[in-house]
Amino acid sequence: MELRVLGCHGGESPRHRATSFLIDEKLAVDAGALTSRLELAAQGSLETVLVTHSHLDHVRDLATLVDNRCQMGLPPLTICATRATIENLQRHFFNDRLWPDFTRIPAASEPSIVYREIELETPFALGRHRVTAVPVSHTVDTCGYLIDDGTNALVISGDTGPTDRIFEVVNDTPHVRALLLEVSFPNTMQHLATASGHHTPETLAADLRKLHAAADVPTMLYHMKPPCQAEIERECSKLAGLNLHVLKLDDHFTF
Ligand SMILES: [Zn+2]
Ligand SMILES: [Zn+2]
Repeated sequence: MELRVLGCHGGESPRHRATSFLIDEKLAVDAGALTSRLELAAQGSLETVLVTHSHLDHVRDLATLVDNRCQMGLPPLTICATRATIENLQRHFFNDRLWPDFTRIPAASEPSIVYREIELETPFALGRHRVTAVPVSHTVDTCGYLIDDGTNALVISGDTGPTDRIFEVVNDTPHVRALLLEVSFPNTMQHLATASGHHTPETLAADLRKLHAAADVPTMLYHMKPPCQAEIERECSKLAGLNLHVLKLDDHFTF
């Protein structure tokens, strides 16, 4: 399985990009940086975007992606998400006000988007991957994803504060090669993290104790707020007994 990091920050600047991961070229998780980081041909190669939740930093590039693809005469892009997230996208984003309803463009019979509603904890097939949505704890309905090719698996947390189920899933899946886990704020901003449903290094360390072998599973950190990145990294470097790495733009892993 190939993983490419297109966006791994909880904010944006010319050197920071919102959350987007590319898996085996056809599958993306979240759309924070799909058009700002992918050439048109790579945008056209996408088949499916798994969306963790409806917050703008995770869905924004769906707008520009489907607009580009529409003119390229491609088959529709499948947007996979839970019912709550799809409803938010339909009602508040692709609503013919903020952006056109691309399920009817260029024609209802020829949509640029199809929505695929997924159930939490119910594995489904996407090409050669088996995907399972796992509930996490954020301010809106949010899920992480287990993506499994039968030999290697990857878990992406989505935006979350302290949570349980995702760690049980990692414990129950022996071939998880990496856990991509959010950490957004430094410990000094715990109040903001709590109010907005995110982790600090302190709550992250407490959550990682739920893993049976925290030192064995590489934990790749993302969604750091750009102004706080150095402080968060300093705090994370002091955490002992964990296997932490900070994701960078353009990181590329083969599992
Ligand atoms: Zn969020
Ligand atoms: Zn976010």
